[in-house]
Amino acid sequence: MTNHMKYYVLFGPPGAGKGTQAGSMVERYHLCHLSTGELLRSEIAAGTELGKQAKALIDAGNLVPDEVVEGMIESKFRSTKGVDGFLLDGFPRTIAQAEALDSMLAKSGEGVTACVSLMIPDALIHERIAHRATIEGRADDARPEIVENRIKTYHAKTEPLIAYYRKAGKYHEIDGVGSIDAVRERIFSVMDQF
Ligand code: ADP
Repeated sequence: MTNHMKYYVLFGPPGAGKGTQAGSMVERYHLCHLSTGELLRSEIAAGTELGKQAKALIDAGNLVPDEVVEGMIESKFRSTKGVDGFLLDGFPRTIAQAEALDSMLAKSGEGVTACVSLMIPDALIHERIAHRATIEGRADDARPEIVENRIKTYHAKTEPLIAYYRKAGKYHEIDGVGSIDAVRERIFSVMDQF
């Protein structure tokens, strides 16, 4: 693996603070922030065919198909210039997506630099999403049973990635409980190593 670019996977349950922390990470390490959630929401807002198909799944708290997000990520890798790397936020979310990412990067002899994982307990997930619902107005935040389904989906489909990246020696867990500043400092102290 001879990386020209850094590829960070920003990992964590819904509401862990990925979006909140991404800005300062991107700035400090000159990265391009790729949030699959944001990319999908802009497809929905633009009323594209992809957006229409994604909306029903997202609004129910389910994942969109692997191929859809894989395609979005690969095209951003190709079209983005002038950065030192990428901060992948909300991708990969399944083992199949993690394997697809590995093969995308392997084509150019590269690989994931590190998985930076923000961890918070389930009780705090509920609290933070309920708070965000009052601010951002996301349909998938508004109903408790939808949030519940996203948490279930996270445990079933996404949590297995912890073992995946641990096995690769790339898993770095950060305590996501505390002030925004405190969590940011913990993240920087891990990422400064790379
Ligand atoms: P959160 O930050 O609460 O986890 P996101 O904004 O990352 O939410 O994602 C919102 C929704 O978009 C997810 O619940 C899912 O339906 C869809 N989504 C985002 N990323 C992916 C992905 N990598 N694979 C499949 N679906 C995704």
